[in-house]
Amino acid sequence: MNTIIDPSNFLLLIVDDVSANLKVLHGILSLEGYQISFANNGKQALERVENIEPDLILLDLMMPEIDGFEVAEILAKNPKYQDIPIIFLTASQEKEHLTQAFEKGAVDYITKPFNKQELLARIKTHLQLKHYRDCLSYQIQQEKLISQITLDILGEFSLENILNNTVLGMQKLFQANRVIIETCQGGKYCQKVAEVIQDGYASLSTEILKDWVEFEPIKAQSIQVLDSHPSDNLNPLQKKRLTHWNVKTELIASLMIQDKFCGVLMIHHCANSYQWSDSSLKSLQQIIQQTQIAIQQAKLYQELETVNQQLEKLYKQSEKFYKQLKSLDYYDELAQIPNRRQFNLSIEQEWLRLRRDQQPLSLIMCDIDFFKQYNDIYGHLQADDCLYQIAQTLKNTIKRPSDMVCRYGGEEFAVILPNTNQNGALEVANSIQTAITQHQIAHSHSPIGYITLSMGLATMIPSIDTKFEQLVQNADDALFLAKKQGRNQIANLSSI
Ligand code: GH3
Ligand code: MG
Ligand code: MG
Repeated sequence: MNTIIDPSNFLLLIVDDVSANLKVLHGILSLEGYQISFANNGKQALERVENIEPDLILLDLMMPEIDGFEVAEILAKNPKYQDIPIIFLTASQEKEHLTQAFEKGAVDYITKPFNKQELLARIKTHLQLKHYRDCLSYQIQQEKLISQITLDILGEFSLENILNNTVLGMQKLFQANRVIIETCQGGKYCQKVAEVIQDGYASLSTEILKDWVEFEPIKAQSIQVLDSHPSDNLNPLQKKRLTHWNVKTELIASLMIQDKFCGVLMIHHCANSYQWSDSSLKSLQQIIQQTQIAIQQAKLYQELETVNQQLEKLYKQSEKFYKQLKSLDYYDELAQIPNRRQFNLSIEQEWLRLRRDQQPLSLIMCDIDFFKQYNDIYGHLQADDCLYQIAQTLKNTIKRPSDMVCRYGGEEFAVILPNTNQNGALEVANSIQTAITQHQIAHSHSPIGYITLSMGLATMIPSIDTKFEQLVQNADDALFLAKKQGRNQIANLSSI
């Protein structure tokens, strides 16, 4: 830990009311090369501290008016000056005085008359200690700044904010005049994506970057520092660039994402040359690494967002599709009326409702006559259309909102007629027959030349002992009878 102290870098303030003492000290210290300032009373000492901010104070203990104790006490209270080491100059070795001096903030004392070797040794030691303390506190400050910058970078998910936080952080950390990030593809195409410039400095023009072919060799993580002075080891293009942008020191660091070169970070010091120390370069690398991680994260996040959006879209589509499917589940697309599944639900519902109300429920089962031949003669497409026509005719014939026509299967339809007795059902069946006849769908195989229906009719008042399946069975049996008796007719097996 023995750092060589160069006295010419340090300014000492000597405070003593006895000018002979000042003279002696000046003689010794100026010979060593220290910069020196004087004060011959306490008041003047405080003024000097404010104006010159010395690196160390040699302070006489006993002075009229404001004595050394008081000066030390005042400085100790001021955060700006409390770290300046104070060495007391004292003729007294009284224990009481020394104790008080250390209490007031002295770091050491030297007794008069001065021993030159002792004086120099003590000054050197305290300057060294101060130097270490300053370095340490600077380091702590930098570390704090780096971790804050890292947090700012990693806390972002948007690429734009990550890049902006990176340039801002770099600018702050290295007191740069300009920091830029450019994305480069194939070393040819460059685009400025983030920039921070200090007041008074120009924004970076990219015209030179366009023919900046030096990106090509950058294949791995690299850091290049170019200094305009001395410019001996710069190539003409580098010289041109630094001159064009008026840059004293330029640092160029490559940005790599998954081992692929994707851009550069440039730090410009324009006012003065900048000494990139090992520790600054280490900090720089540390931040670059975090930026690279953050960029990767942002890309993943973006991909995830896209996947999420796609998933959401798919989910919405599937929901819509499911709804359609659901409605198709209960609907016959060809005939455009409810299907067998809906029939089962509705008839059971009506059955239970009418059982409570003790009201009749009628059912007409309709079956197209000679439909197989219709298919054979006119083809499937026309037969499909015929099914649709019949379904719509049935639908338009029923009158009450609670009545329902369903496609029961194939060329068979069921008409549910709640609160309808046998006579009412017969009336509906007759109007269906009339409507179908009027429709006159030509069927060459039909005895009357048109499509006809056979209908089986059944009516029941639901009870605890009976089931709706019985009503369906009865209507089916009646339909069978209608077919058997010659088709194009209504049969009824019910007794109510
Ligand atoms: P019946 O007078 O005894 O009822 O004779 P049918 O030919 O009408 O009855 P069958 O049960 O022998 O044949 C029914 C025909 O209905 C068979 C099938 O070709 C036709 N069919 C059933 N569903 C559809 C359909 O969705 N589209 C078409 N085009 N034809 C259908
Ligand atoms: Mg049939
Ligand atoms: Mg039929």
